[in-house]
Parts: sequence; C-alpha cells; structure tokens
Amino acid sequence: MRLILLGPPGAGKGTQAQRLIHKHDIVQLSTGEMLRAAVAAQTPVGLRAKDIMASGGLVPDEIVIGIISDRLDQPDMKNGFILDGFPRTVPQAEALDDLLRKKHIRLDAVIELRVNESALLSRVETRVAEMRARGEEVRIDDTPEVLSKRLASYRSLTEPLIHYYSERRKLLTVDGMMTIEHVTREINRILAAIGAVETQATPRKPAKMAARKTSRPVGKAAKVAKKASKKPAKTARKAGKATSGRTRKAARASAKGSGKRPARQGGKAAKKVTKKRAKA
Ligand code: AMP
Repeated sequence: MRLILLGPPGAGKGTQAQRLIHKHDIVQLSTGEMLRAAVAAQTPVGLRAKDIMASGGLVPDEIVIGIISDRLDQPDMKNGFILDGFPRTVPQAEALDDLLRKKHIRLDAVIELRVNESALLSRVETRVAEMRARGEEVRIDDTPEVLSKRLASYRSLTEPLIHYYSERRKLLTVDGMMTIEHVTREINRILAAIGAVETQATPRKPAKMAARKTSRPVGKAAKVAKKASKKPAKTARKAGKATSGRTRKAARASAKGSGKRPARQGGKAAKKVTKKRAKA
C-alpha cells in the first residue's frame, strides 16, 4: 500500500501514519522527521536545513526530493509506505510523479485530513504540553508564531495539492476533526473500499458504491472533486463510443479482475438498459 497523507501542521498526520504503519506493516516516510534527524546528526543536509526549519520555512526541493528518492530505493519499502509531509508543493508532487514512474511504483491514494484551522493552535499547544510532561524535547518550530507561518505556507503552497490529486482521481478526504480512533477507522474503511487493503470478516461492498460514499470530500474540495470526477467519465464515455465491443468487453473483464470500478462506457445504451430495469 502506497499512500500520501495530506493536511496542515497539527492535523494528526503523524499520529495516523503511526497507526497505519503498524496495522499494515508499511513504512512511514516523514520528511520532517528525516530532516530533524539530519539536524541532530549535524550532517551537511542538517546544517543547511536547520535555520530554515526553525523559522518555519521550506527546505529546498532538491534536498527533500533527494532524501525521498534514496529512501524509496531501500529494501524495507517492499510492503509499501506512507508519505507524511511530502510532497508539500506542486513542483514536489510533479517530481514525485516522475520518481514513482521511473521506479515503477504505483500510488494508491492521497488521504487528506481536513481540519478546522482554529482548532490547530490548541492541538499543537496540547501536544507541546504533553511532550513536556513526558520530559521529551519540544520541537523549536512548535511555537504559535512559527505555527502561523507554517499554516500560511500550507495554505498557499500545499493546499493546491488537493486540486492536483483530485484531478488525478487519487484524493480521499477524511474529517480530521473526529477523534483519533474515528479518523483511523474511517481511513481504514476507505482504504478497504478502494481495494488498497484486504478486508477480512467484513463482506465486500461493490467498489463503486463504497468508494463514492467514503471518498466524500467536504466544502470547496467537494466541488473540485465533483468537477474533476465528471471530466474523466465524459472522456471515458467518448472513448467507449470509439472502441469496439470486443475491446470494451476486455476492459470490463480486466477491471473486474483488478477489483476496480470499470469506467462507464456506452453512455446512452447503458442508460436505456437501466431505465428498462428500473421499470421492471
Ligand atoms: P513537519 O514535521 O512535516 O511539520 O516538517 C517540519 C519542517 O521540516 C517544515 O516546517 C519544513 O521546514 C521542513 N520540511 C518537511 N518536509 C518538507 C518538504 N516536503 N519540503 C520542504 N520542507 C520540508
């Protein structure tokens, strides 16, 4: 399973990533964590990143893309991974697409944790208080001032990725304001619905219905996703008219085999059949 977790700082990406890696035996790739380790070890990358990170800015693309590229080549990636904190900008997403294509790796989904911004500050304050209580070192970028800078950077540079992945039909939005337990359950439910994980006891719903129900985006993303989801369907219908019956049959068979929803094809004819069935 190969996923990207998307969401502003404090949305719970780290917490959910931890739960997912244990459940599905995959690896978390957090660029923030890797950079913090490099800073602590005072490597050349760490020395370059240190001040940028402390001020809440973004580390240059070539550094983070290099880190991710090297990491994807490691043997522990074989079961899959969760990218947390990367990509953070459209150019980084494009670079990732390139990397994945070259390495023949397929991305299953991008999970957006949608949260209410005003709740983020208090979440971070709670996290800092808990870390202090456990005697852990608190991140130097976990202050209200730096957090507002990180939030502004998320809004202008990272939020466009919602559109980017929605257009590519990879985006699944989960309400990140629910309890940690609920968010985890919802993520696992939608992953099962899109066929990214094996479900055990639960009977499998038809992928079409389940995916629609669970990948429900909220607010502005809903409009974007709706618009984006219409476009490929239209193209598929056009393609359906152009392809021969034999090709369509083969496409349906292969979609069935892969457990994926076959693209709707043969528009009008399909509608007539549905109407007849409805009457019957
Ligand atoms: P995070 O732990 O994801 O909040 O990241 C902490 C800090 O690391 C960020 O504020 C950035 O300075 C840096 N960082 C992490 N990931 C990236 C990235 N993909 N691109 C640029 N900078 C990053």
